[in-house]
Amino acid sequence: MKQGGTPPTGKWIGSPTGGVTAPEPLMLPDLTSRFSATAARLRALADGHPMEKWLDFMALLSDAQHNAAMAPAAMPATDPSLIAQSVEARMPPLAADGHQRHSAWRDGLTTLLDELDGGDIPAPAAAVIADVRLHSADDIEDLADRFLRGSLDPADVGPALYVAAALQVYFTRLAASLDASTLRLLPQRGLCPCCGSTPVSGLITASGPTPGTRYLYCSLCSTAWNHVRVICITCEGSGALTLKGIEGGSAAVQAETCDDCRTYAKMLYQGKDTKVDPYADDLASLGLDIMVSEAGWARHAPNPLLLVVA
Ligand SMILES: [Zn+2]
Ligand SMILES: [Zn+2]
Repeated sequence: MKQGGTPPTGKWIGSPTGGVTAPEPLMLPDLTSRFSATAARLRALADGHPMEKWLDFMALLSDAQHNAAMAPAAMPATDPSLIAQSVEARMPPLAADGHQRHSAWRDGLTTLLDELDGGDIPAPAAAVIADVRLHSADDIEDLADRFLRGSLDPADVGPALYVAAALQVYFTRLAASLDASTLRLLPQRGLCPCCGSTPVSGLITASGPTPGTRYLYCSLCSTAWNHVRVICITCEGSGALTLKGIEGGSAAVQAETCDDCRTYAKMLYQGKDTKVDPYADDLASLGLDIMVSEAGWARHAPNPLLLVVA
């Protein structure tokens, strides 16, 4: 099933009386709404926010990602037999670190930069974009490899934002082309079943066939997958989880801290705010990251659009 899609109605096979509806194990991204929804939510959250200008810029970046995702592209076809082999071996079929990237992703990067250049962007961002355009194709591929391996240099951080944004578009296009029914969750439940990346945040549903279900949202390919709520997404421990929010802040955004592994992850509660977006609400709640990390918990994994390299 696609995210936002309508689940099939009727009784489940093998359960003639109806029985309990099981949550969808995973939901692939809907390319037409993935980035535009994030842009709209960022704009709504930016209004009156202490980081309004930055969130407005990130909304422009999401708009550019949407236009790049919708542009015609010579995307590589995914081979169903290779997908099946990976799934059988319990490996992510679009493994971010092993997948042979098609050059189409760099066409997406060019579209994205063209879109931003036409908009009202801050001068420092325009300078970085001009710098990215001067990189050779080989340099850009090296930068993409370093980003995907998590081995960026401090000098890479500016250009890496646009490379990461373009890779999100490329991997989201690939994920959207798959058939969810052919995929399985990985044994490592904290990693994306499509590309093996870490999630950006989790969302606890309030509607749909199985309200109260937790889905983690992939930081790279935008796939959402089910993860049991009472278990830490980093260490899979269940003994020491606590929710922490900012006093006076949105009750819909909480940090789930784990005292076993001393990490935290953001959880979004649709029941408190039906408009939460796994990508936009994570960026707009940077204050919660600062509060929880100052109190001694490390973030489970970075948001790729918010990289800080020491
Ligand atoms: Zn993924
Ligand atoms: Zn843990």
